[in-house]
Amino acid sequence: MQAKKISVQGRGESRCIYCGQPKPGLPVREDNVIRCVRWFNRKMLRKYRNYRLVVCRACYPGYKKARSRYVKKQATYLIIGFLFAGLLVAVSGGSGFAFIYGAAIVAFMYALSLVSYVPALDVGAARPARARPAAAGGTNKLK
Ligand SMILES: [Zn+2]
Repeated sequence: MQAKKISVQGRGESRCIYCGQPKPGLPVREDNVIRCVRWFNRKMLRKYRNYRLVVCRACYPGYKKARSRYVKKQATYLIIGFLFAGLLVAVSGGSGFAFIYGAAIVAFMYALSLVSYVPALDVGAARPARARPAAAGGTNKLK
């Protein structure tokens, strides 16, 4: 395999984040949450396995649904967090503590949404269209 040379993220074997199997697939975007998990594994658990995180073809449809569900869920959590924070500040008449508690509520809701974290794909590196069967026919005239 020549995939070893284009290591944008972790080196080593690729691992599907959905089924957990060592399969090739679409690369996951290396965002702050993934970086945190990697850091945590390295520093706290001392087991640093530098997997290339991917979503394999078989899991792609399931992943796509889970991802869109997650994006909506996170937005809902943050809206609730901001509503509570706003309410707290309004009720307290804008005291400094209310702002701190408000920020803590928003941070807590954000952390809560990360429990079911579904990372984004690295769309720059690979097109999700590859995971679709090319049976639609006729439209590909790039030859
Ligand atoms: Zn998979």
